[in-house]
Amino acid sequence: MGDCKFLMKCPFFNNLNLPATVEVLKKTYCKGTYERCERFRLRTAGKEVPKNLWPNGETGN
Ligand code: SF4
Repeated sequence: MGDCKFLMKCPFFNNLNLPATVEVLKKTYCKGTYERCERFRLRTAGKEVPKNLWPNGETGN
């Protein structure tokens, strides 16, 4: 729990072009259970993270 260590440079967290509904994802994952975030998992595993991947595994903008 707490803030994700990738938060400052995360393309998802810092993307201003996403719908307001993603704010709940930021609160749930980025400032909460970030270890469950798909982006976090891939990055921690040393894998490439698709630019448009959301924390819940969906793809958006
Ligand atoms: S989207 Fe995932 S990797 Fe990015 S800041 Fe949020 S929890 Fe961290």
